[in-house]
Formats: sequence, C-alpha cells, structure tokens
Amino acid sequence: MSLISEAKNGNITEEMKKVAESEGVEPEFVRRGIETGRIVIPVSPYRYTKPCGIGKGLRTKVNASIGTSSDIIDIDMEIEKARVAEATGADTLMELSTGGDFFDIRKKVIDSTTLSVGSVPLYQAFIEAIRKHGSVVDMTEDELFKVTAGQAKLGTNFMAIHTGINLFTVERLKKQGRFGGLCSRGGAFMTAWMLHNEKENPLYSEFDYLLEIMKEHEVTLSMGNGMRAGAVHDSTDRAQIQELIMNSELSDISHAAGVQTIVEGPGHIPLDEIEANVILMKRLSGEKPFYMLGPLVTDIAPGYDHIVAAIGASLSSAYGADFICYVTPAEHLALPNVDDVKQGVITARIAAHIGDMVKNKDRQRDLDMGRARRDLQWDRMYELAIDPKYARSVRDSRSPNDEEACTMCGNYCALKIVKQNFNLER
Ligand code: SF4
Repeated sequence: MSLISEAKNGNITEEMKKVAESEGVEPEFVRRGIETGRIVIPVSPYRYTKPCGIGKGLRTKVNASIGTSSDIIDIDMEIEKARVAEATGADTLMELSTGGDFFDIRKKVIDSTTLSVGSVPLYQAFIEAIRKHGSVVDMTEDELFKVTAGQAKLGTNFMAIHTGINLFTVERLKKQGRFGGLCSRGGAFMTAWMLHNEKENPLYSEFDYLLEIMKEHEVTLSMGNGMRAGAVHDSTDRAQIQELIMNSELSDISHAAGVQTIVEGPGHIPLDEIEANVILMKRLSGEKPFYMLGPLVTDIAPGYDHIVAAIGASLSSAYGADFICYVTPAEHLALPNVDDVKQGVITARIAAHIGDMVKNKDRQRDLDMGRARRDLQWDRMYELAIDPKYARSVRDSRSPNDEEACTMCGNYCALKIVKQNFNLER
C-alpha cells in the first residue's frame, strides 16, 4: 500500500515514525502531512532508503545533484561524489548523468548510498534517442515511458518530470522572448521535440499513464520547472507562472491518485522576488512541498555561485520553501568535482539552517554555540559546528600561545578577559 493510502487509512508507518523522531514532531503530524500532501517521504519498494521527510513543519532539506556529462565520464568519481554528499550531510541525491552507460552509473550510485535518489528520466530518454536515432526529436513516446519505468525499478525514489512544458506554455514563451533563454536541459529538449513534431508533450498529454507508472513503483513526483529562467532578468515571467499554475493543478491530480508530489520552483531570481514566488507557489499548489533550485540571486559571480545560491536559498527557506537544491562553485563553468560537491552541500546546509531559524524558530544550536564560545569550550564549539573537521583544522593550523584563546586576538582575547572578570552566565 502506498504511503498516501496508509496515511489516508490513519496508519502511521515506520517511515513516518522515523521522520517524526528525527524532526522532533509527533508521528501523527507527519501522517497528517502526507495525507494532505503537505509532506512527502520519497521511498522505493526496491531498496532501503534512510527516510527523509520533506514539507511543511519539517527542517529544510538539501539535495546534491551529481552525474556524468558527455565530456567527463568517471564512474568512480560519481560514486565518490555520492559518498561525500552523504557524509557531508546532504538529505537527498539526484543522479543526473548525461554521459556513459546510464543503467550502470545509476545502479552503482544507488548502491553506494542510503539517501533517497532522484532522477530526470527525460535526460536519458533524449540522449538515448540521439544515440539510437541520431536526434532528440526522434524519441518515441514509448521510449520515454520505458526509461521512466526502468529508472523506477532501479530504486529511484523521486523523479523530476517536465509536465509544465506544453504547447500552451511554449506559446507564452515564444510571445514574450527571454534575455537568458531556457536553463532547464529537460525543458529545452522537450521544447525542441514538441516544436519539431508539432505534438503535445507526452508527459502532459499522457499524465494519467505517467501516474500509473509512478504509483506502481511508488516514485515521488517532482513537478519539474522546465520553464525556469536562466537569467535573473527573466524571473517570474508569464511562461514561468503559467507553468506553475499547470504544475499546481497537476499536483492535485497526482496527490489524489495516491502519488506523493513536490512542486519545483525557479533557479535564477532576484532577492526581492523570492517571497512572492514562495507565497504564490504555496497558495496555488495547496501547500505542496516546494523545491527551490538554488535560487541564484545574481548572475555575475561564476566561481562563487554556491554563495549566491545560499543567499537565495536561506531567504527561500525562511519564507517557506521546504527543499533546496545545492549549487556548487563550478556552476556555469564545469562539471563539479568531489570538492565542489562538498562545498556545495556545506554551503546549502548553512542556508537551510539560516532559513529554519526563521521558518521553524530552530535556534537551539545557535544558543548552544553562543554559550560554548562565551565559555571558550573549543571541543563543544567543534561539536556544534556545521563542518567540525574544517573548523578544527583552521584553528590547529595557526596554534595560539594561549590554548584557551585563538590567534585572532591572542593575549587580548576579549572572551577570556570577560571570563576572568565577570560572570555573564545565562
Ligand atoms: S582570541 Fe578573539 S577571536 Fe579568538 S576566541 Fe578570543 S575573542 Fe574570540
């Protein structure tokens, strides 16, 4: 029985209990969230996955996307990226390979992690069409659905499906134009396929069939944002909002059919439009879990886009986004390597925490850190740090003369002076 059916029958499953325990909420809260579509737990009948709750009232979750490209196909590096992402604290992983043997890579990555793994079946379907027929536009509808089912059977927990790209939204896009084009690979492929074949997107026209596949393999559906802007100057435009309306409508149909559903949001958006985007999405979708891709709040910082995205992600989370996709320092420049993945996960976790401090009033860890700093308890500070190993290595690399202080102020450590002269304990 699907998680939604269990929840509707009033049953609290093991996954719901584990999510409740890790979030510090009641199991009934999680059950009710799944029943109403406000919370999802991406599961798979084909493998064990560490249960991860995403949605209203829960901690903001971080996704790390990995995968080969047509230029760099290194399976060992992808497995290492998966391990590093999990060890660094990512909550989910998306395997988005576009080069090499898709089945082999995905299987090896899935076998190397206990995290929920997501995918974008369109990538594989279109690239296999190029390999087989010589062009994306020759992909058959049957091939697309076969790839989707095949990925599900491998143990994929959630899939980004580009339903919002359809003849109507493409017309909108053509009418208005864009400064930065389309940055979604799935969206770009599907638009080319539709225009060439003069046909509707099968993921949209055959949505009921798609839901049957999702339901049969208990895959969580992530309504892809194929119309998202690739430049902040195109943000929140008519094409994006049209897609959001359609995806929100489809998300209701999906949930009613017993398929857990997430709705995806934009990737490039200025800071002052984040609040409106989150409110709009939550209102239109009936508060489904909202997955923000970054977002990047400026386009001028290649090499530092993990920081740019963290600024956008922290605000998104504070306003109510539930799930954020990390961005690595390599964004817009190259395929991320293992170190980029680590940087991306840590930076996104900081952003998620900053958001949760506002959204969920989750401030205990900061209070504990404040006290540990006041009392110069270094081991406790490392314990509470988001990256304890790195924090320790920085201090150790510049050892102070006085073990209680650090080399920043040395003998004139303000905290030490206060500790010796006053009692400021609270
Ligand atoms: S030396 Fe300065 S920076 Fe270091 S712990 Fe003391 S007050 Fe803080």
